[in-house]
Amino acid sequence: MAGAGRSGVGAGEAAGVEGAEDVAGPTGIAVAPPGRPPDNGVVVQATTASSNAIGAARYAHLQPNAFAIEKGNIVMTRGESSPVLARTLYVVATPIGNLRDITLRALDVLEQADIIAAEDTRVTATLTSHYGITARLASLHAHNERQRADEVIAWLAAGKRVALVTDAGTPAISDPGAALVRAVVDAGYAVVPIPGPSAVIAAMSASGLAAPQWLYCGFLPATASARARQIERLRTFGCALVFYEAPHRIAATLDALAASLGAERQVVIARELTKRFETIHRCALGDAAEWLAADTNRKRGEFVLIVEPAAQTPPAETKSHDALLAALLAELPLAQAVRIAVAVTALPKNRVYERALALKKASAR
Ligand code: SAM
Repeated sequence: MAGAGRSGVGAGEAAGVEGAEDVAGPTGIAVAPPGRPPDNGVVVQATTASSNAIGAARYAHLQPNAFAIEKGNIVMTRGESSPVLARTLYVVATPIGNLRDITLRALDVLEQADIIAAEDTRVTATLTSHYGITARLASLHAHNERQRADEVIAWLAAGKRVALVTDAGTPAISDPGAALVRAVVDAGYAVVPIPGPSAVIAAMSASGLAAPQWLYCGFLPATASARARQIERLRTFGCALVFYEAPHRIAATLDALAASLGAERQVVIARELTKRFETIHRCALGDAAEWLAADTNRKRGEFVLIVEPAAQTPPAETKSHDALLAALLAELPLAQAVRIAVAVTALPKNRVYERALALKKASAR
């Protein structure tokens, strides 16, 4: 069976029960029949709740992971070792510091993969040797990802099982992976995520910020002007903002965040998560520089920053000048009214501007 004959993930075909057994491919490796979604055998979302009997039939293709547990409309297998299929790319999350933060499925996949495409093979070798995994490692990083994609597709066509990992966390999250996944999907092969650690999720989970919505912003630009512009664009978003940062830029980034977002906004500084010197500190942005400077160790390591959502009601000081602003707006264009109000009140221009917009909108109703 030609590799490209297999439809990719989400091709829309039903997971047929008939012919569900994997057949041996040219390499003797189990190959999924065409048109069948990859049997990752873990979680299947049914469209409707079903009785155990119907559920058992519907999920019979999960045979390698028999004894599915059905609860409501979610089916999970009990966790027998997962089959790792040929002609499939597995996107595998790996630890962000603590080697024990690896899932059983990730180990199944890495153990059975023919090739592990790794961002830095030396970093991944630490993980694989720790777990006695001997699969071939091939480097795939930001600079060779597109060119490597052709090779990965050739491996898949030859019936190989390929795993993609990065140095830490989940591939394609501020890491290489997206271009490879796209190329593999476009070539008609299956892509299976093996979820696990990611610094953004670990930081959010322990932040204590009850933000129903949050925006993952990745790394801010390196230059001060581009960074300030980017933060300015995010300033009024009503969701928490999550950034990744490296140690040599952490102080400058916290300063820039305080300058644009306001000293009073709360930030959670999550440093060295899952590692020996893990630190999760919460303070006002205006106090972050002092906290960082108090101990040189605090600037070391890897960081996730989470800034609380922008206040949805204007600060009292801004509101207290509403009468002046409203009078100016009644006579002048918005920009001119804001300029004069800023000169008179000495309030930050962005706040006066925001308030002027709100007043204008309210008066137009
Ligand atoms: N793909 C990874 C993920 O899923 O989190 C992110 C890779 S990105 C190149 C590396 C950045 O992630 C670091 O600079 C840091 O901002 C964040 N990071 C990774 N590991 C971390 C850790 N243990 N503690 C805090 N931040 C971490």
